Amino acid sequence: MSSAHDNPSQSHATTVPAGPSEALMDLLSCNAQFARTHDFAPLQAGQHPKTTMLCCSDSRVPESSCGETLNRVFTIKDIGNQIATAPGSIMYGTLHLHTPVLLILGHTGCGAIAAALSDYSAEPQGIREELDSLQPVIRAGLQKHGAPGNDIAKLARFTEDNVDYQVRQALADANISGRVTAGKLAIVGAVYDLHALYGKAGSIVVTNVNGQVEGSALGITIQRLPIA
Ligand SMILES: [Zn+2]
Repeated sequence: MSSAHDNPSQSHATTVPAGPSEALMDLLSCNAQFARTHDFAPLQAGQHPKTTMLCCSDSRVPESSCGETLNRVFTIKDIGNQIATAPGSIMYGTLHLHTPVLLILGHTGCGAIAAALSDYSAEPQGIREELDSLQPVIRAGLQKHGAPGNDIAKLARFTEDNVDYQVRQALADANISGRVTAGKLAIVGAVYDLHALYGKAGSIVVTNVNGQVEGSALGITIQRLPIA
């Protein structure tokens, strides 16, 4: 593995930390800068986010992809952006903090979906369990699309399917669907387009609104991958 010392010309942001100490120093140094440049007094009375966001833990899918998230976005991250991994956190954002949007954000090139498509029987139990809960998506996707292999566009179809599945999982909760029916909550499925498969790389592409996968909703045109 290369390190900052192997190639001093590499920028700080793109180097791989050599070990725990360097990684921690990097983190704390960035935090010191963050603490210097933000005002925390308005945040001390409580939080009032507008969106509960469930997204993949992948470090290339940052909360900051939707701008300043302080007091705006209540975030849950797990591998494969799954309701099954963190149902209580999702209920906390939607039912207690009353965010009007639950954004379920998958992404192109999702390693969790690729792993769930592979033989993961040698993985530790915790990882196996989180990949097992993706199997309904994987089984249905293999029937519809076949195995994606290394085809990033085909793999993205599984991401779209997974987002649809997670939206259905959210709607299956009576308390959450009650808020949707009352017009107080929208469940928005979306894909973070790292690979420019829909358009501009880095864009959040809305693919599903409350289970609707075509037309427009909430003033947004729903987009889907073109049928191959
Ligand atoms: Zn992922």
